[in-house]
Amino acid sequence: MNRVFNFSPGPATLPLEVLEQVRAELLDWHGAGMSVMEMSHRGKEFIAIAEQAEEDLRALLGVPENYRVLFLQGGALGQFAAVPMNLLRGKKSADYLVTGSWGAKAAKEAGRYGTARIAARPADGKYTHIPPRETWQLDPQAAYVHYTPNETIEGVEFHEVPEVGAVPLVADFSSAFLSRPLEVSKFGLIYAGAQKNAGPAGVTIVIVREDLLGQALPNTPSVFDYQQMAEHDSMLNTPPCFAWYVCGLVFKWIRGQGGLAAIGERNQRKAALLYDYLDGQSFYRNPVVKRDRSRMNVVFTLADPALDDAFLKGAQAAGLSGLKGHRSVGGMRASLYNAMPESGVRTLIEYMKEFARTRA
Ligand SMILES: *Cc1c(COP(=O)(O)O)cnc(C)c1O
Repeated sequence: MNRVFNFSPGPATLPLEVLEQVRAELLDWHGAGMSVMEMSHRGKEFIAIAEQAEEDLRALLGVPENYRVLFLQGGALGQFAAVPMNLLRGKKSADYLVTGSWGAKAAKEAGRYGTARIAARPADGKYTHIPPRETWQLDPQAAYVHYTPNETIEGVEFHEVPEVGAVPLVADFSSAFLSRPLEVSKFGLIYAGAQKNAGPAGVTIVIVREDLLGQALPNTPSVFDYQQMAEHDSMLNTPPCFAWYVCGLVFKWIRGQGGLAAIGERNQRKAALLYDYLDGQSFYRNPVVKRDRSRMNVVFTLADPALDDAFLKGAQAAGLSGLKGHRSVGGMRASLYNAMPESGVRTLIEYMKEFARTRA
C-alpha cells in the first residue's frame, strides 16, 4: 500500500482509520451478513446507522432541538436551487453576499426562482478579500441572506459569522463544514456537500430551523422539499445509504479526535504552517488579504507559471497529490481538510522549499 498526501479540493482525503473501518465492515456489517451497500434503508440495521450518524453530528455541532438535520442528494448545486424554492416563503427576493465563484453560482441559480440581489461583492471584481461590512447593502425585507463561509476555489474565508439582523442567514458550508466549532443558532439554514470534509460524495447535509419549513414553492420537487424530507427522516425515497454511513464514521472519528474545538485548533496550526512559509519567501505568492485567508484551501502561484507543470510532476513523484489550482484561477491549491495530517503539510513545505531552491 502506498497512500499519498492527497490535497484534492473534493472529493478529498478521508481519515485512514475510517477507511480501515469501512474495509473491516464491508462484507459483513456487525453480523448482518451483508454490506451496508446491500441493506434495505427501511431495515433496523440501516435505521440504526442513520440515527447514530445524526446523533453524532448533533453532538459535534450542538445542534439545537428546533433544527432538523437532513441527509439529501443533489450536492451543493442542488441546494443552490432548493434554498430559494423552500425559503422564499412568499417573498420575491433574497440577498447574496458574493465573495467567490461558488457564491456567484449560488446567486445565479437562485435567480431562476426569484430575485437574487447581490448585497455585497468585491468592488475590484477580484475574489481576494471579503468586502468591508459597511459596504454591504442588505435589504431588511429579504427572504434570507446567503453567503459562502469558505470559497473553495479562491481560498477566501469568513472568520466570523456575518451579522445580518433578523433576516435568516443561509450558509453554503461545503468546504468548511466541521472544520471548527459553529454556533448553529445563528443560522436559518446550513448546507454542505459531504465530499470536502465530511465523507464521500453523494450526500448533502442540510441543517434547517423548523419555523422555515412548510412554505416551499408549489412546483418544488418532493426530494428537494425540506418539509417532506423532514417528515420522512430523509427517507422519502432511497437515501444515499453508503455515503450516509461513511459520514457517520467520520463524525465518530471527529468526536474521537476531541471534537470540533480540537479539530479547529489543529486546522489553524496546519494553515499557519503553510501561510508562514509562503509569507517568508518570494518564489510563491498567495493573493488573498491576510485577514480573509482560508484555513481549508490555501492557494498560491509560482513566480513563473511556466514552472507549474514541473512543480506538479515533482509533487506527484514526492507523494503529494491534487495540488493543481482550479482551472479558472490557475496556480496551485493545497486543501487542508480535517483528514490531512500536519505531517502532510510539513512534507509539502519541504518539497516547496526544495523546488524553489533548485528552480528559482
Ligand atoms: C464543492 C463546492 C460546491 C459544489 O458542490 P457539489 O456537491 O459538487 O454540487 C459548492 N459550494 C462550495 C463552497 C463548494 O466547495
